[in-house]
Amino acid sequence: MGSLARLSGAEPGTSGGIAALSVRDLHKSYGSFEAVRGVNFEVAAGEIFGLLGPNGAGKTTTIEIIVGLREATSGEVRIFDADIRRQAAIARSQIGVTLQDSDFFEHLKLKEQLEYLGACYGTKPDAHLLLGFVDLADRAEWKLKQLSGGQKQRFAIASALVNDPPLVLLDEPSTGLDPTARRQLWELIRRLRVEGRTIVLSTHYMEEAEELCDRVAIMDQGLIAAIDTPDALVDRLVASGFERPVEVRKATLEDVFIQLTGHEFADETAQQAGPARGRRGR
Ligand code: ATP
Repeated sequence: MGSLARLSGAEPGTSGGIAALSVRDLHKSYGSFEAVRGVNFEVAAGEIFGLLGPNGAGKTTTIEIIVGLREATSGEVRIFDADIRRQAAIARSQIGVTLQDSDFFEHLKLKEQLEYLGACYGTKPDAHLLLGFVDLADRAEWKLKQLSGGQKQRFAIASALVNDPPLVLLDEPSTGLDPTARRQLWELIRRLRVEGRTIVLSTHYMEEAEELCDRVAIMDQGLIAAIDTPDALVDRLVASGFERPVEVRKATLEDVFIQLTGHEFADETAQQAGPARGRRGR
């Protein structure tokens, strides 16, 4: 990969009219339990699309079917018009994914992990470019266990990019991150979109969905309960007569947290590089 700017990147909503992702009447049963019960949605090229829903709603199952880790009981999934069953290799070559429990090799350095993953796709990724993109350029020789939670998530995103995919799926990428690390991740997700990639992410953080997503689907009990822009969904609720007690506060506790503890990437990098480098040298 010479540059991370995707040559094939399209403006949001355009890709010759072909959806980046199309999910039609998707069903998944585990034994007699139907976890996904007829899910339909489309994601346009260049969108950031959110999958929301309570625990057990079926988000991970849906994502894992899309990326080919689980087989649907019935229904159709197309990635840039390639059917994930009949054109599996073409479909998979266009997807990058981070899972809730991504497995990496603890004993390999970050650079080596990316090269290994690239080899699995038959490509030779530029590990330094990828690590630079996720602000881990100076961690190339580190192992995963030396990274913070936020850095691990950023590394997971780098690993999802080894095959330069136009569609990136992120399953709860910010779970467990502190507010500063979460905002760094948001910045990174926005950068993915600027490159022309399409992003589908699941999250339990509503402010994250409002901040990042062009549209969201709210899943519940294996079905999509609503799908629209965050603004339109809120407007619909308000139009139905819903009111919230008026609260005029210009800052939140999260703003206080970030004000007191937040640092830019460079700041974080400088602070953590010193002592850790010392440890490695011993
Ligand atoms: P969370 O937000 O907690 O990650 P989710 O929306 O991603 O939840 P899924 O993990 O897709 O939900 O699970 C949907 C339902 O399917 C849950 O009731 C879960 O217990 C069930 N389920 C998931 N995997 C299996 C499995 N391998 N065997 C049986 N049931 C499963």
